[in-house]
Amino acid sequence: MTMTDRPPAPDPLALADLAGAVTGVVLTPGQPGYDEERAPFNLALESHPAVVVGAVDAADVQAAVRFARAHDLPVAVMTTGHQASVPVDAAVLVTTRRMSDVRVDPLAATVTVGAGVVWQQVVDATTAYGLAPLNGSSPLVGVVGYTLGGGLSPMLGRAFGWAADALRSMTVVTADGELHEVSAHAPDPLDADLFWGLPGAKSNLGIVTSMTFGLFPVTHLHAGGLFFAGADLAAVLTAYAALTAAAPDELTTSIALLRMPPVPFVPEFLRGTFMVHVRVSLLGTAEQAGELLRPLRAAAPALLDTVADMPYADFASIHADPSSPAPWREHSALLGPLTPGAIDTLVEVAGPDADVPVQMLQLRHLGGALARGEATTNAAARRHAEFVLDAIAIGPVEVTGGAMSWTRGLVDRLADVRVPGTNLNFLGAEDASPAEVAAAHDPAVLARLRQVKRAVDPHNTFRINHNITPAEDPR
Ligand SMILES: Cc1cc2nc3c(=O)[nH]c(=O)nc-3n(C[C@H](O)[C@H](O)[C@H](O)COP(=O)(O)OP(=O)(O)OC[C@H]3O[C@@H](n4cnc5c(N)ncnc54)[C@H](O)[C@@H]3O)c2cc1C
Repeated sequence: MTMTDRPPAPDPLALADLAGAVTGVVLTPGQPGYDEERAPFNLALESHPAVVVGAVDAADVQAAVRFARAHDLPVAVMTTGHQASVPVDAAVLVTTRRMSDVRVDPLAATVTVGAGVVWQQVVDATTAYGLAPLNGSSPLVGVVGYTLGGGLSPMLGRAFGWAADALRSMTVVTADGELHEVSAHAPDPLDADLFWGLPGAKSNLGIVTSMTFGLFPVTHLHAGGLFFAGADLAAVLTAYAALTAAAPDELTTSIALLRMPPVPFVPEFLRGTFMVHVRVSLLGTAEQAGELLRPLRAAAPALLDTVADMPYADFASIHADPSSPAPWREHSALLGPLTPGAIDTLVEVAGPDADVPVQMLQLRHLGGALARGEATTNAAARRHAEFVLDAIAIGPVEVTGGAMSWTRGLVDRLADVRVPGTNLNFLGAEDASPAEVAAAHDPAVLARLRQVKRAVDPHNTFRINHNITPAEDPR
């Protein structure tokens, strides 16, 4: 059987056995709840799994994986579907949203979360103790999926590093249905390899059922956004390049070129306009922020300036990411410093006089603590780049395909400042080919990941993802 052939649907008796073994839900096409259970946040992708297992605990995940192996079906996992990239057809889909435990250990400054937890749940629990995690911009993104891609925090990333670097331990179900407790110093070398490889492999090595990670003593930020007219892009980009080149580690920022459609889910002042949005998060005082942002504020008149002291729990207001599902496509790349040449290219290709088919083009600043740390700590960390460039085209796939070739054209034009690799959290459906997946990783990291994959998933049961194939058997 090839990977694209559809195996026959599992027989009803086997499904009844599965349902008996699972505490959560088991749903097949046509059953009430099946459509809700398979729906991703990114509506550009539609999946028709043979079976969906809505797991409540690790034992349910084990039962689902064993069932899939017995029926020669691949397994996919979805928490929220924010990074749904490959259709889950003729497969077992494990959904984790019911695994929603959050346990804070304030003395150890750690938190342990179930596989279905999203960031706002963690922040609400930890800020009660004056502690913050290295979460992302959206309160609705899944903690596990985010951390397995490195985890770039727009609030604290440059101050404290990648979320994956703060990981202490995980539990994971591998393709043979076994549950492993993995950490850097696990007695079994395979478990230490899994701890290294899972952040960087997403679901390629197994389904993570829980993770424990470190927290940081942060209660407040000086944070918000500066909105400028798109006509001022050149001046704002130039000031932004200077700001980022000299930024202290406590300052994490990004810049987004927004061309938002005139639709209700977009804030009224942004509808149908071209705006430049600089997102700011400073672990510091109003005075320090005033000093750091003075040249940017002087570069052009800000149409709206929301940078102010805020409780950490309000982090979601900084980016104001979408709160309801929508279809979109995205493509990303890693860049070095923003040179004058790169600024000219961005203004020419994506500026006020250009015809631009993407609604959001963002540059997220890296460096600081994101650039430090041991290269070998885990497979996810990308320590060599200065910026992640990420383009998002909102709309059904029929209309957004062209936008992605426009983005590739822009990235080609930025060849002088492009650096190898990709940030795994910004890989979209566009980037799921074997060549794109290979290009996303450092070659030595990819080779080691393929060895770990061969050890735990030689039949590539976890292949419905940005797939890392098992290393060939040398015999
Ligand atoms: C609006 C928005 C804002 C974002 N902001 C940031 C940001 O600030 N920083 C950043 O780094 N990223 C950011 N991202 C990217 C985000 O981190 C990834 O899309 C992440 O993978 C989403 O995880 P999820 O579980 O919510 O999505 P899903 O689509 O459910 O899962 C995404 C991936 O993770 C894998 N996965 C999910 N659960 C498990 C599991 N239990 N075990 C093994 N694999 C699993 C899936 O197989 C899939 O490959 C953002 C994305 C969006 C759409």
